[in-house]
Amino acid sequence: MPEDFPRIAFSNSYADLPPRFYAEVAPTPVRAPRNIRVNEALAVELGLDPAALGSEAGTAMLAGNAVPEGATPLAMAYAGHQFGGWSPQLGDGRAILLGEVIDRDGQRRDVQLKGSGRTPFSRMGDGRAWLGPVLREYVVSEAMAALGIPTTRALAAVTTGETVVREAPLPGAVLARVASSHIRVGTFQYFFARNDIEALRLLADHVIARHYPEIPPSDGRALELLRAICARQAGLVAQWMGVGFIHGVMNTDNTAVSGETIDYGPCAFMDVYHPDTVFSSIDRQGRYAYRNQPVLIQWNLAQLASAMLPLLGPDKDATVAAAQAVIDAVPDMYHDAWLTVFRRKFGLREARDGDPAFIVQVLDAMAGAEADFTQTFRALSEGTPLPPALADARAAWVQRLANEGATPEVRQQEMQAVNPAIIPRNHVVEAMITSAVAGDFAPFHALTEALASPFEAPADSPYRAAPAAGEEVLQTFCGT
Ligand code: AMP
Ligand code: MG
Repeated sequence: MPEDFPRIAFSNSYADLPPRFYAEVAPTPVRAPRNIRVNEALAVELGLDPAALGSEAGTAMLAGNAVPEGATPLAMAYAGHQFGGWSPQLGDGRAILLGEVIDRDGQRRDVQLKGSGRTPFSRMGDGRAWLGPVLREYVVSEAMAALGIPTTRALAAVTTGETVVREAPLPGAVLARVASSHIRVGTFQYFFARNDIEALRLLADHVIARHYPEIPPSDGRALELLRAICARQAGLVAQWMGVGFIHGVMNTDNTAVSGETIDYGPCAFMDVYHPDTVFSSIDRQGRYAYRNQPVLIQWNLAQLASAMLPLLGPDKDATVAAAQAVIDAVPDMYHDAWLTVFRRKFGLREARDGDPAFIVQVLDAMAGAEADFTQTFRALSEGTPLPPALADARAAWVQRLANEGATPEVRQQEMQAVNPAIIPRNHVVEAMITSAVAGDFAPFHALTEALASPFEAPADSPYRAAPAAGEEVLQTFCGT
């Protein structure tokens, strides 16, 4: 190994699970790797040397051309419901887990290469990714992190010097992704479908140790785990709703049991607020439209509950009833989290009975006025004018603020800390990708840097602007 090869203190635990949890497979080397960007702050958080990651040896590692010492490269096995249809075997078809590291805060984090070649789970796919989805995931996942929303992260992106054939020949790329784990609802489903109760038990204990250490070891721990995952996912989706984020492929294989946002495909942030908004070209029925996200997360969690049934106890009727009670509570968990998110967005410290009706009234007015979601909340936070069509909504807000404790200055500060000035808007992301494909990465770097401080963007930041007429991007693609 060369002198500047990144040294990574791996501490792998998934690889210690039985071999049927994964396939051992190394990344497939690429022709001519080149560094695009290393996420220095994240590297430091993980105890890695950013300079080493950006070096020639580091780039080779990030492209999958050299496997670092201590790595146990593997592709994870999982199943899942995709748009409601059952797939008994999915698995990492274009991603390879290098291993885990313990970060500066003592948290275990996966380091995975996405786009790193074929695995036993690739089926018809080539195991590769092209530059567009890699940069999209980099930008959007890092934006989500800066917005304070649980998410996988982007450690680095490299180009491969190879062509990936999609609708057209496109430049290949690899994303180094970091997650608190890559375990999905579909991982539980995979073992349940095989009636592998032993594996389910090992998986549940692994997930508790890793993500829910507060759950005490007891016979009831699997039910507690189910409840805890439901609470985190309900809270996550409420946070998505608060920034107008539409995931686009909320399949059970894309629902992480850690509660992090995972698998950024055709995801997008709304410009104009409308609850029926859907961007993904493959989501023809609008299954994963903005307004359906809370409904579909409950559906996904019900699949998790079914897969966990064998862990919940010996009496079938009793376990079904207990699991059903947890799933039935998801709408309330979501509603409470949503209320908290939107009260903060409106600068409301106190909880009042009429708040849900007030919030819906304003959102309905925004839909009617075709108001920009992000700009409307930011205008309220900054005290700048709203479109005339929102005059009544604004008056309702002012009335609701009567007797609220905070001074207007403090309220503005609090609102500006939760209502972003900038988000990764579709038209900006698409233009950034077009530039990168043409060899100009400056828009990618500029966008990434701006989105690191989404609540502090200067008034004249170009990223605040909504798309001009004709500039709107109405459809997004998986682009795998
Ligand atoms: P997604 O919905 O994008 O998360 O992917 C669903 C499944 O398809 C996962 O099992 C992926 O690993 C697999 N997949 C997606 N793209 C590719 C590809 N280019 N090569 C191999 N497998 C892929
Ligand atoms: Mg996926």
